[in-house]
Amino acid sequence: MIYQRSNQLFVEAEKVIPGGVNSPVRAFKAVGGTPIFVKYARGAYLYDEDDRRLIDYINSWGPMILGHAYEPVVEAVISRAKLGTSFGMPTALETEIATLAVNMVPGIDKIRFVNSGTEACMSAIRLARGFTNRDKIIKFAGCYHGHSDSFLIQAGSGAVTFGSPNSPGVTAGTAKDTLLANYNDLESVETLINANKGEIASIIIEPVAGNMGCIPPQEGFLEGLRTLCDDNGILLIFDEVMTGFRLAKGGAQELYNIQADIVCFGKVIGGGLPVGAFAAREEIMNYLAPVGPVYQAGTLSGNPLAMAAGLAMLKALNEDEEIFKRLDAKTAYLEAGIDKVLKENNVEFTINRVGSMISVHFDPEPVVDFKTAGKGDNPLFKKFFHGLLKEGIYIAPSAYETWFITDALSYEDLDFTIEAVKKVSKSF
Ligand code: PMP
Repeated sequence: MIYQRSNQLFVEAEKVIPGGVNSPVRAFKAVGGTPIFVKYARGAYLYDEDDRRLIDYINSWGPMILGHAYEPVVEAVISRAKLGTSFGMPTALETEIATLAVNMVPGIDKIRFVNSGTEACMSAIRLARGFTNRDKIIKFAGCYHGHSDSFLIQAGSGAVTFGSPNSPGVTAGTAKDTLLANYNDLESVETLINANKGEIASIIIEPVAGNMGCIPPQEGFLEGLRTLCDDNGILLIFDEVMTGFRLAKGGAQELYNIQADIVCFGKVIGGGLPVGAFAAREEIMNYLAPVGPVYQAGTLSGNPLAMAAGLAMLKALNEDEEIFKRLDAKTAYLEAGIDKVLKENNVEFTINRVGSMISVHFDPEPVVDFKTAGKGDNPLFKKFFHGLLKEGIYIAPSAYETWFITDALSYEDLDFTIEAVKKVSKSF
C-alpha cells in the first residue's frame, strides 16, 4: 500500500482529534481515502510520511507564493525566535510590516494584525457595523470568510464540501442579520438593499471567489457593487485573504482598480505563519479600540515570529518587479496545457483562472456563481484527484477549492503535471 504510514498516523489522529484533522478541508471525506501526512516541504514539493514527493498545488491554501521553506522567511523566524517568542507588548517590527503593507495596498492608511483570516473578517464586519451603526450584512452564496457565526450562511469551501454551508450552532438571531446575494448578480444585491433600506452596514465579498473553485468577477460586477455601496452608505469589504499580495502587490483592488472601504488579509501576510489583518482608511480604522469604541483584541496579535515571517515575505514580493507576471505566465501555461489534453480526451470541463488562482470544473457550462459551481461532476473529480495523487500531484481534496500556483514551480514541473492530467483523463 502506498500510504501505509499516513494511514497509520490517521488512525492514531482520529482517536484524539475529531476526524483526525484540525481543519475539515484537510480530510478526504469528499474524495475518499485518508489524508496524507506531511513530513516536510521544500520549494514546490511536499514530502510525505511515506517518503513520496508530491508537487503541491495547494501551497498551504495560498500563502507559499515563493515556495515552501523559503529561505528568507525561515531565517527571519529562526533569528527572531532567539529574541523571545511573545511579549504582549509592542515591537518595532509591527510598525515596519504595517508601513510596508500600507504602501503596497491601495487606499489604506492603517492596518491591524490578527491571527487568522477568520479573525480578520469577523473584526472587519464588527468595525463596519460600529462605524455605520447598522446591523445587517450582505454576503454571497459560496463565498467563505472564515468560520465565525455571521459567515456560516451558505458558506463555500469546506463548509459546503462537508454538507454544512449553514452550520448548526449559529443562532437564528445571528443568521437573520446575514443577507445572501448571488455572486456576479448585481440585481440580487439591489433587491436586498431595497428591501432593507438604511439597515445594511456592509457588503463583504471575495473579489475573485476562491471557495467555490475559482470564479472571476464578471465585467462591471465589482464596479456595480462599489456604486451601490456609495449610493446607500454601505461599506464595501473585500476579503482578500486569498487574493491579497497574490494577484498583484495591491491584490484585487489593484488588479481591478476598485477601492474597497475595508480590506481583509490572511495567510500570505504571515508568510505561512498564523496571521491575518484588516485595513482601511484612517477615519474607519480610528473607530477601533483603544482610540475608538469598537472593541477588538488579541494576546498573540502582531506576534514577533509571525511579523518577522510576514515582513520577509512581503519584502520579497515588493522587491521582485516580475513576480506577478511570472506567476501569471506559469499559470497560463498550465491552463493551456490542461485545456489541450482534456479536450484531446473528450472531457467536458471549464477552467477558470485569474492570475495564479485556477480551477478545473467538470462541467462544460460557464461557472459564474455557487449554483453553477455545484453542477460539476463530483465522481469524475474524485477520479481526477486520486489519479493525480498516484502520479505525485497534490490538489485540494474537494471540487470546491482553487489551485494556488507557486513561483517555485518549474516549467518541467508544469509539463509533468500536464502529462499526468493527460494520463489520468484518458482513463475517465
Ligand atoms: N476568507 C477567505 C477568502 C478564505 O479563503 C479563508 C480561508 N480559506 C478565510 C477567510 C479564513 O481564513 P482562516 O482559515 O485563516 O481563518
